[in-house]
Amino acid sequence: MNLWANIASLMSPTAAVISWYQCNKRDLPWRFTRDPYSVWLSEVILQQTRVNQGLEYYHRFLELFPTVFDLAAASEDEVLKAWQGLGYYSRARNLHATAKKVVEIYEGVFPTTSTDLKQLKGVGDYTAAAIASFCFDECEPVLDGNVQRVVARLLAIEEPADKPSGKAIIMAALREWIDCKNPAIFNQAIMEFGALQCTPQNPRCEVCPLQADCRAFALKRTSEFPIKSGKVNVTDVWMYYFVLIHRGEVLVRQRVHSGIWKGLYDFPSIDSNKLMAMDEVLEHWCVERKVNEPMALRSAPTKLEHILSHRRVHATFIELVVSKKIEALESEKWIQLEDFDTLGVSRLVDRYIQEHSQLLGRME
Ligand code: SF4
Repeated sequence: MNLWANIASLMSPTAAVISWYQCNKRDLPWRFTRDPYSVWLSEVILQQTRVNQGLEYYHRFLELFPTVFDLAAASEDEVLKAWQGLGYYSRARNLHATAKKVVEIYEGVFPTTSTDLKQLKGVGDYTAAAIASFCFDECEPVLDGNVQRVVARLLAIEEPADKPSGKAIIMAALREWIDCKNPAIFNQAIMEFGALQCTPQNPRCEVCPLQADCRAFALKRTSEFPIKSGKVNVTDVWMYYFVLIHRGEVLVRQRVHSGIWKGLYDFPSIDSNKLMAMDEVLEHWCVERKVNEPMALRSAPTKLEHILSHRRVHATFIELVVSKKIEALESEKWIQLEDFDTLGVSRLVDRYIQEHSQLLGRME
Protein backbone atom coordinates (compact mmCIF):
# COMPACT_ATOMS: atom_id res chain seq x y z
CA MET A 1 0.00 0.00 0.00
CA ASN A 2 1.37 3.42 -0.92
CA LEU A 3 0.48 5.17 2.31
CA TRP A 4 1.13 8.75 1.31
CA ALA A 5 -0.57 8.46 -2.05
CA ASN A 6 -3.56 6.93 -0.33
CA ILE A 7 -3.81 9.59 2.37
CA ALA A 8 -3.06 12.45 0.01
CA SER A 9 -5.63 11.33 -2.54
CA LEU A 10 -8.39 11.48 0.05
CA MET A 11 -9.85 14.91 0.63
CA SER A 12 -9.18 15.93 4.21
CA PRO A 13 -12.25 15.03 6.23
CA THR A 14 -11.43 17.62 8.94
CA ALA A 15 -13.96 20.32 8.04
CA ALA A 16 -16.76 17.84 7.36
CA VAL A 17 -16.18 15.95 10.62
CA ILE A 18 -16.07 19.16 12.66
CA SER A 19 -19.22 20.55 11.09
CA TRP A 20 -20.98 17.19 11.61
CA TYR A 21 -19.86 17.33 15.26
CA GLN A 22 -21.23 20.81 15.78
CA CYS A 23 -24.69 19.62 14.69
CA ASN A 24 -24.71 16.17 16.30
CA LYS A 25 -22.57 16.14 19.44
CA ARG A 26 -23.93 14.99 22.77
CA ASP A 27 -23.76 17.53 25.58
CA LEU A 28 -21.46 15.73 27.97
CA PRO A 29 -20.16 17.53 31.07
CA TRP A 30 -16.46 16.83 30.43
CA ARG A 31 -16.80 18.68 27.14
CA PHE A 32 -17.41 21.94 29.02
CA THR A 33 -14.21 21.92 31.02
CA ARG A 34 -10.49 22.29 30.39
CA ASP A 35 -9.65 21.14 33.88
CA PRO A 36 -7.17 18.24 33.45
CA TYR A 37 -8.34 16.54 36.65
CA SER A 38 -11.95 16.35 35.43
CA VAL A 39 -10.93 15.30 31.90
CA TRP A 40 -8.58 12.63 33.28
CA LEU A 41 -11.35 11.27 35.54
CA SER A 42 -13.81 11.12 32.64
CA GLU A 43 -11.32 9.32 30.39
CA VAL A 44 -10.40 6.72 33.00
CA ILE A 45 -14.08 6.06 33.75
CA LEU A 46 -15.02 5.87 30.05
CA GLN A 47 -12.34 3.27 29.42
CA GLN A 48 -14.34 1.12 31.76
CA THR A 49 -17.95 1.75 30.85
CA ARG A 50 -20.39 3.34 28.42
CA VAL A 51 -21.26 7.01 28.45
CA ASN A 52 -24.62 6.68 30.25
CA GLN A 53 -23.25 4.77 33.20
CA GLY A 54 -20.01 6.76 33.06
CA LEU A 55 -21.90 9.99 33.70
CA GLU A 56 -23.11 8.71 37.07
CA TYR A 57 -19.57 7.77 38.15
CA TYR A 58 -18.11 11.01 36.84
CA HIS A 59 -20.51 13.06 38.98
CA ARG A 60 -19.98 10.74 41.95
CA PHE A 61 -16.19 11.10 41.84
CA LEU A 62 -16.31 14.87 41.50
CA GLU A 63 -18.75 15.11 44.36
CA LEU A 64 -16.68 12.88 46.67
CA PHE A 65 -13.28 14.12 45.49
CA PRO A 66 -13.70 17.59 43.93
CA THR A 67 -9.95 18.09 43.38
CA VAL A 68 -6.90 15.93 42.82
CA PHE A 69 -5.86 16.80 46.42
CA ASP A 70 -9.11 15.28 47.74
CA LEU A 71 -8.61 12.11 45.72
CA ALA A 72 -4.99 11.79 46.83
CA ALA A 73 -5.97 12.25 50.47
CA ALA A 74 -8.74 9.63 50.33
CA SER A 75 -8.17 6.11 51.63
CA GLU A 76 -7.91 3.29 49.14
CA ASP A 77 -11.15 1.87 50.53
CA GLU A 78 -13.00 5.11 49.80
CA VAL A 79 -11.72 5.14 46.23
CA LEU A 80 -12.59 1.48 45.66
CA LYS A 81 -16.05 2.06 47.14
CA ALA A 82 -16.67 4.96 44.75
CA TRP A 83 -15.47 2.78 41.87
CA GLN A 84 -17.67 -0.17 42.91
CA GLY A 85 -19.69 -1.56 40.02
CA LEU A 86 -17.17 -0.66 37.32
CA GLY A 87 -15.00 -3.75 37.87
CA TYR A 88 -11.32 -4.00 36.97
CA TYR A 89 -10.22 -2.55 40.30
CA SER A 90 -6.59 -2.12 39.27
CA ARG A 91 -7.79 0.92 37.30
CA ALA A 92 -9.16 2.43 40.50
CA ARG A 93 -5.87 1.75 42.27
CA ASN A 94 -3.93 3.36 39.40
CA LEU A 95 -6.27 6.34 39.59
CA HIS A 96 -5.51 6.73 43.27
CA ALA A 97 -1.75 6.26 42.81
CA THR A 98 -1.71 8.83 40.03
CA ALA A 99 -3.60 11.38 42.12
CA LYS A 100 -1.00 10.94 44.87
CA LYS A 101 1.87 11.33 42.38
CA VAL A 102 0.35 14.49 40.89
CA VAL A 103 0.09 15.95 44.41
CA GLU A 104 3.47 14.77 45.69
CA ILE A 105 5.66 15.27 42.62
CA TYR A 106 3.80 17.96 40.64
CA GLU A 107 2.28 19.87 43.59
CA GLY A 108 -1.23 19.16 42.36
CA VAL A 109 -0.64 20.53 38.86
CA PHE A 110 -1.04 18.03 36.01
CA PRO A 111 1.78 17.90 33.43
CA THR A 112 0.78 19.74 30.27
CA THR A 113 2.35 17.62 27.51
CA SER A 114 1.38 14.17 26.34
CA THR A 115 4.98 13.00 26.84
CA ASP A 116 5.00 14.04 30.50
CA LEU A 117 1.45 12.83 31.10
CA LYS A 118 2.48 9.36 29.98
CA GLN A 119 4.82 9.19 32.98
CA LEU A 120 1.72 8.87 35.16
CA LYS A 121 0.47 5.40 36.07
CA GLY A 122 -2.42 4.20 33.94
CA VAL A 123 -2.04 7.07 31.44
CA GLY A 124 -1.30 5.63 28.00
CA ASP A 125 -1.06 7.21 24.55
CA TYR A 126 -4.79 7.75 24.22
CA THR A 127 -5.45 9.34 27.64
CA ALA A 128 -2.32 11.48 27.41
CA ALA A 129 -3.34 12.79 23.97
CA ALA A 130 -6.88 13.46 25.19
CA ILE A 131 -5.78 15.49 28.24
CA ALA A 132 -2.99 17.32 26.38
CA SER A 133 -5.21 18.29 23.45
CA PHE A 134 -8.46 19.03 25.33
CA CYS A 135 -6.84 21.01 28.15
CA PHE A 136 -3.58 22.36 26.73
CA ASP A 137 -4.15 22.52 22.95
CA GLU A 138 -1.33 20.13 22.13
CA CYS A 139 -1.62 19.08 18.50
CA GLU A 140 -1.67 15.37 19.26
CA PRO A 141 -4.30 13.05 17.71
CA VAL A 142 -6.28 10.71 19.93
CA LEU A 143 -6.58 7.15 18.77
CA ASP A 144 -9.29 5.08 20.41
CA GLY A 145 -11.45 2.32 18.95
CA ASN A 146 -13.92 4.77 17.44
CA VAL A 147 -11.23 6.81 15.70
CA GLN A 148 -9.46 3.66 14.53
CA ARG A 149 -12.65 2.44 12.85
CA VAL A 150 -13.38 5.73 11.07
CA VAL A 151 -9.86 6.05 9.62
CA ALA A 152 -9.56 2.36 8.72
CA ARG A 153 -12.80 2.62 6.74
CA LEU A 154 -12.07 5.96 5.09
CA LEU A 155 -8.75 4.67 3.76
CA ALA A 156 -9.74 0.98 3.50
CA ILE A 157 -6.57 0.08 5.40
CA GLU A 158 -5.69 -3.56 4.78
CA GLU A 159 -3.08 -3.67 7.57
CA PRO A 160 -4.45 -4.98 10.88
CA ALA A 161 -5.39 -1.86 12.85
CA ASP A 162 -4.31 -3.46 16.12
CA LYS A 163 -0.74 -4.05 14.89
CA PRO A 164 2.00 -1.38 14.95
CA SER A 165 2.02 -1.19 11.12
CA GLY A 166 -1.73 -0.48 10.96
CA LYS A 167 -1.61 1.92 13.87
CA ALA A 168 1.24 3.83 12.20
CA ILE A 169 -0.85 4.34 9.05
CA ILE A 170 -3.83 5.55 11.06
CA MET A 171 -1.69 7.95 13.10
CA ALA A 172 -0.04 9.29 9.94
CA ALA A 173 -3.47 10.08 8.49
CA LEU A 174 -4.63 11.71 11.73
CA ARG A 175 -1.49 13.85 11.87
CA GLU A 176 -2.28 15.07 8.36
CA TRP A 177 -5.88 15.86 9.24
CA ILE A 178 -5.77 17.25 12.79
CA ASP A 179 -6.46 20.96 12.97
CA CYS A 180 -3.50 22.28 14.99
CA LYS A 181 -5.27 25.59 15.58
CA ASN A 182 -7.93 23.69 17.50
CA PRO A 183 -6.82 20.10 18.10
CA ALA A 184 -9.42 19.60 20.85
CA ILE A 185 -12.37 20.02 18.55
CA PHE A 186 -10.95 17.73 15.85
CA ASN A 187 -10.19 15.01 18.40
CA GLN A 188 -13.60 15.30 20.06
CA ALA A 189 -15.30 15.38 16.66
CA ILE A 190 -13.70 12.29 15.16
CA MET A 191 -14.29 10.29 18.37
CA GLU A 192 -17.95 11.29 18.42
CA PHE A 193 -18.25 10.57 14.69
CA GLY A 194 -17.07 7.01 15.33
CA ALA A 195 -19.38 6.61 18.33
CA LEU A 196 -22.56 7.86 16.64
CA GLN A 197 -22.16 7.83 12.85
CA CYS A 198 -19.52 5.33 11.75
CA THR A 199 -20.64 2.69 14.22
CA PRO A 200 -19.27 -0.87 14.35
CA GLN A 201 -22.52 -2.40 13.12
CA ASN A 202 -24.72 -0.67 10.54
CA PRO A 203 -22.77 2.57 10.03
CA ARG A 204 -25.04 5.35 8.81
CA CYS A 205 -23.41 5.58 5.38
CA GLU A 206 -26.55 6.82 3.60
CA VAL A 207 -26.43 10.07 5.55
CA CYS A 208 -22.66 10.31 5.97
CA PRO A 209 -20.91 13.55 4.97
CA LEU A 210 -17.75 11.54 4.16
CA GLN A 211 -19.45 8.98 1.96
CA ALA A 212 -18.07 10.33 -1.35
CA ASP A 213 -14.49 9.93 -0.09
CA CYS A 214 -14.89 6.73 1.89
CA ARG A 215 -12.93 3.87 0.29
CA ALA A 216 -14.62 1.14 2.32
CA PHE A 217 -18.01 2.44 1.21
CA ALA A 218 -16.92 2.56 -2.44
CA LEU A 219 -15.68 -1.01 -2.15
CA LYS A 220 -18.87 -2.10 -0.33
CA ARG A 221 -16.66 -3.46 2.43
CA THR A 222 -17.48 -1.26 5.42
CA SER A 223 -18.12 -4.27 7.66
CA GLU A 224 -14.59 -5.60 6.98
CA PHE A 225 -12.76 -2.59 8.46
CA PRO A 226 -10.92 -2.22 10.70
CA ILE A 227 -9.05 -5.44 9.93
CA LYS A 228 -8.08 -7.23 13.14
CA SER A 229 -5.03 -9.45 13.44
CA GLY A 230 -5.32 -13.01 14.60
CA LYS A 231 -9.03 -13.27 14.20
CA VAL A 232 -9.99 -13.39 10.54
CA ASN A 233 -13.45 -12.01 9.92
CA VAL A 234 -14.47 -13.61 6.68
CA THR A 235 -17.39 -11.83 5.10
CA ASP A 236 -19.37 -12.99 2.09
CA VAL A 237 -19.68 -10.87 -1.00
CA TRP A 238 -21.59 -11.61 -4.20
CA MET A 239 -20.14 -10.26 -7.44
CA TYR A 240 -22.09 -10.46 -10.68
CA TYR A 241 -19.68 -9.87 -13.58
CA PHE A 242 -20.96 -8.82 -16.99
CA VAL A 243 -18.76 -10.17 -19.77
CA LEU A 244 -20.02 -8.18 -22.73
CA ILE A 245 -18.83 -9.11 -26.23
CA HIS A 246 -19.50 -6.96 -29.26
CA ARG A 247 -18.04 -7.75 -32.70
CA GLY A 248 -14.76 -9.17 -31.44
CA GLU A 249 -14.37 -6.74 -28.56
CA VAL A 250 -14.91 -7.19 -24.82
CA LEU A 251 -15.59 -4.54 -22.18
CA VAL A 252 -12.98 -4.65 -19.38
CA ARG A 253 -12.59 -2.70 -16.17
CA GLN A 254 -9.42 -1.80 -14.30
CA ARG A 255 -9.60 -1.88 -10.51
CA VAL A 256 -8.56 1.62 -9.45
CA HIS A 257 -9.28 1.56 -5.71
CA SER A 258 -6.92 0.17 -3.12
CA GLY A 259 -7.16 -3.49 -2.27
CA ILE A 260 -5.49 -6.64 -3.41
CA TRP A 261 -6.92 -6.33 -6.93
CA LYS A 262 -5.76 -2.75 -7.40
CA GLY A 263 -4.48 -2.20 -10.95
CA LEU A 264 -5.77 -5.56 -12.21
CA TYR A 265 -8.43 -6.00 -14.87
CA ASP A 266 -11.77 -7.74 -14.68
CA PHE A 267 -15.24 -6.94 -15.98
CA PRO A 268 -17.92 -4.46 -14.90
CA SER A 269 -19.91 -5.92 -12.05
CA ILE A 270 -22.83 -5.53 -9.71
CA ASP A 271 -21.57 -6.18 -6.17
CA SER A 272 -23.77 -7.06 -3.26
CA ASN A 273 -23.48 -8.18 0.33
CA LYS A 274 -26.31 -10.65 -0.24
CA LEU A 275 -27.33 -13.23 -2.80
CA MET A 276 -29.43 -11.71 -5.60
CA ALA A 277 -31.91 -13.38 -7.96
CA MET A 278 -30.79 -13.26 -11.61
CA ASP A 279 -33.81 -11.13 -12.60
CA GLU A 280 -32.85 -8.65 -9.93
CA VAL A 281 -29.22 -8.56 -11.13
CA LEU A 282 -30.25 -7.93 -14.75
CA GLU A 283 -32.71 -5.23 -13.75
CA HIS A 284 -30.09 -3.58 -11.56
CA TRP A 285 -27.60 -3.65 -14.43
CA CYS A 286 -30.07 -2.15 -16.93
CA VAL A 287 -30.90 0.71 -14.57
CA GLU A 288 -27.30 1.38 -13.56
CA ARG A 289 -25.90 1.24 -17.09
CA LYS A 290 -28.92 2.77 -18.85
CA VAL A 291 -29.54 -0.30 -21.01
CA ASN A 292 -32.97 -0.08 -22.60
CA GLU A 293 -33.20 -3.40 -24.39
CA PRO A 294 -34.46 -6.42 -22.46
CA MET A 295 -31.63 -8.82 -21.71
CA ALA A 296 -31.92 -12.55 -22.24
CA LEU A 297 -29.22 -14.98 -21.17
CA ARG A 298 -28.07 -17.41 -23.86
CA SER A 299 -26.24 -19.73 -21.54
CA ALA A 300 -26.21 -20.43 -17.85
CA PRO A 301 -23.91 -18.05 -15.97
CA THR A 302 -20.71 -19.48 -14.51
CA LYS A 303 -20.53 -19.54 -10.73
CA LEU A 304 -17.20 -19.64 -8.89
CA GLU A 305 -16.30 -19.29 -5.25
CA HIS A 306 -13.04 -17.57 -4.39
CA ILE A 307 -11.52 -17.21 -0.92
CA LEU A 308 -9.48 -14.14 -0.05
CA SER A 309 -7.92 -13.40 3.35
CA HIS A 310 -11.02 -11.62 4.64
CA ARG A 311 -13.65 -12.31 2.03
CA ARG A 312 -15.45 -15.20 0.46
CA VAL A 313 -16.35 -14.05 -3.04
CA HIS A 314 -19.33 -15.71 -4.71
CA ALA A 315 -18.69 -14.72 -8.31
CA THR A 316 -21.15 -15.15 -11.16
CA PHE A 317 -19.91 -14.48 -14.69
CA ILE A 318 -22.68 -13.55 -17.11
CA GLU A 319 -21.55 -13.75 -20.74
CA LEU A 320 -23.54 -11.76 -23.24
CA VAL A 321 -23.13 -11.01 -26.93
CA VAL A 322 -24.59 -7.52 -27.29
CA SER A 323 -25.85 -5.82 -30.44
CA LYS A 324 -24.40 -2.46 -29.47
CA LYS A 325 -21.67 -1.21 -27.16
CA ILE A 326 -22.63 0.37 -23.90
CA GLU A 327 -20.68 3.43 -22.90
CA ALA A 328 -17.47 2.60 -21.03
CA LEU A 329 -17.03 4.29 -17.63
CA GLU A 330 -13.79 6.02 -16.66
CA SER A 331 -12.13 2.83 -15.41
CA GLU A 332 -13.40 0.73 -18.33
CA LYS A 333 -12.53 0.25 -21.99
CA TRP A 334 -13.52 -1.89 -24.96
CA ILE A 335 -10.59 -3.96 -26.22
CA GLN A 336 -10.06 -6.57 -28.90
CA LEU A 337 -10.64 -10.09 -27.62
CA GLU A 338 -7.16 -11.16 -28.66
CA ASP A 339 -5.64 -8.40 -26.51
CA PHE A 340 -7.30 -9.70 -23.39
CA ASP A 341 -4.50 -12.04 -22.41
CA THR A 342 -2.02 -9.14 -22.34
CA LEU A 343 -3.84 -7.73 -19.30
CA GLY A 344 -3.08 -8.53 -15.66
CA VAL A 345 -6.06 -10.24 -14.10
CA SER A 346 -6.86 -11.62 -10.66
CA ARG A 347 -6.63 -15.32 -9.92
CA LEU A 348 -10.43 -15.44 -9.89
CA VAL A 349 -10.78 -13.98 -13.40
CA ASP A 350 -7.95 -16.18 -14.63
CA ARG A 351 -9.73 -19.30 -13.31
CA TYR A 352 -12.91 -18.25 -15.04
CA ILE A 353 -11.21 -17.67 -18.39
CA GLN A 354 -9.01 -20.75 -18.32
CA GLU A 355 -11.59 -23.20 -17.09
CA HIS A 356 -15.08 -21.91 -17.76
CA SER A 357 -15.51 -19.10 -20.27
CA GLN A 358 -17.55 -19.94 -23.35
CA LEU A 359 -16.56 -16.85 -25.29
CA LEU A 360 -13.15 -15.70 -24.04
CA GLY A 361 -11.91 -19.26 -23.66
CA ARG A 362 -12.12 -19.72 -27.39
CA MET A 363 -9.52 -17.07 -28.06
CA GLU A 364 -6.60 -19.45 -27.87
FE1 SF4 B 1 -18.22 5.37 8.05
FE2 SF4 B 1 -20.03 4.78 6.15
FE3 SF4 B 1 -19.24 7.29 6.52
FE4 SF4 B 1 -17.56 5.50 5.46
S1 SF4 B 1 -19.48 6.23 4.53
S2 SF4 B 1 -17.07 7.02 7.05
S3 SF4 B 1 -18.15 3.66 6.57
S4 SF4 B 1 -20.37 6.04 7.98
